[in-house]
Amino acid sequence: MNKTCPHATQNDAEADRIHGAICYAIGCVCEINARDLMCQHHWELVPLKIQQVLTSEVFSRSVDEPRSDEFWAAAQMAVDAVESAENQQQQEAK
Ligand SMILES: [Zn+2]
Repeated sequence: MNKTCPHATQNDAEADRIHGAICYAIGCVCEINARDLMCQHHWELVPLKIQQVLTSEVFSRSVDEPRSDEFWAAAQMAVDAVESAENQQQQEAK
């Protein structure tokens, strides 16, 4: 089972993990901008309503500002949604 995005090497991932700019999707090591939560590939799997919560929070704060509990709750939902979407895709691929 390979859930890793093909867009980044492991070394890039390690370097970026220090800065916290790695896709939050489980098993993904893609580099992302500090403002983003996930790489493009995984972001597209996040339900629109959750995307809206996350993006509105991101654009109302600076990168350095701590994010709200609401943001992290939505982020957790996004991670879960991506995981189940990927599981579904793997089921369909069989
Ligand atoms: Zn990703």
